[in-house]
Amino acid sequence: MKTMITGVRPTGSITLANYIGGIKKFIEQQDKYKSLIFIADIHGLTTYINPNEIRNNILDITALYLACGIDLSHTIIFQQSDVLEHCNLGFLMAFQCGVGELSRMTQYKSKKAELSKNNKDMGLFIYPTLMAADILLYDASVVPVGADQRQHIEKTRDLGERFNKVYGKTFELPEYQIPKIGAKIMNLQNPSIKMSKSASKDDKGTIFILDDIEITKKKIMSACTDSEGKVYFDEENKPGISNLLSIVAVIDNLNIEDVSKKYKEYTYKDFKIEVATKVTEFILKIQNEFYKYRNNEEYLKKILKEGAAKARILANKKMEEVKKIVGLKF
Ligand code: AMP
Repeated sequence: MKTMITGVRPTGSITLANYIGGIKKFIEQQDKYKSLIFIADIHGLTTYINPNEIRNNILDITALYLACGIDLSHTIIFQQSDVLEHCNLGFLMAFQCGVGELSRMTQYKSKKAELSKNNKDMGLFIYPTLMAADILLYDASVVPVGADQRQHIEKTRDLGERFNKVYGKTFELPEYQIPKIGAKIMNLQNPSIKMSKSASKDDKGTIFILDDIEITKKKIMSACTDSEGKVYFDEENKPGISNLLSIVAVIDNLNIEDVSKKYKEYTYKDFKIEVATKVTEFILKIQNEFYKYRNNEEYLKKILKEGAAKARILANKKMEEVKKIVGLKF
């Protein structure tokens, strides 16, 4: 059976975009693979976050994974930092890599100015090598992610391939699985930037899954549109409306043509009311489940502990194999 893996960083409260980009597809397929979903807490430390907030986010994400439909009989949930082989292999992956190529990674280029001000850009610089380890360690073939992670998965394949060339076939090379609709959900207020969970809590353009329902409705009703007054999909000229169409298509499991046809005659106001209703109904269902789990911290910690123990067995086996292959082990 092939392996599937994905993760979310505990850098904020999960957004609707995180659900659409990686989690939804993962859940739909979890019984078809050996499935692992993790909380990328070491990646999360690439920017400073208050330690108590990280702890809180880790438990929130665990509860949200379960609330969204992660099935523990198929899937291992764990914290990345509980399986130190991620760091061990990440270090070796850095040796397969050039400084130049890492400095050309889009994510690094876009955030380095901010981080290098405080001499703190190294974590972001080696983000791709740790991410390669996250995936290669489990020989994962399938990685459901949003479009923003495409380059990182390509780099993972590259590094795996380079290693395989030098040492012989060691790693499975992964494929990204980017959703056809909603690969990049945009900020509702500024549809030229992606919706991100590191946005501030009161950002009007970000739909947080745990937000109050009335706030979510208001955010959708005030989403940026355009002056044409016609609902149809055109990402270039109508990014705001196209973003809302993508969101509603994913929630209703329809394709873009169908939703465009469905809302063709709607005014923007009526269309937004419809989107707000559908999104809030959807979120409310997840929230109801979420609090059942979130109110039982001991249970969540137990899940993480058990998940880490299972992941460690797989990771350790692979790491020992790698150490032998490179000559570190007799
Ligand atoms: P992160 O928020 O960086 O921890 O990403 C967790 C997952 O959510 C990854 O699979 C990302 O690709 C996905 N993701 C993050 N933001 C978006 C977005 N705006 N649209 C679609 N997927 C996203």
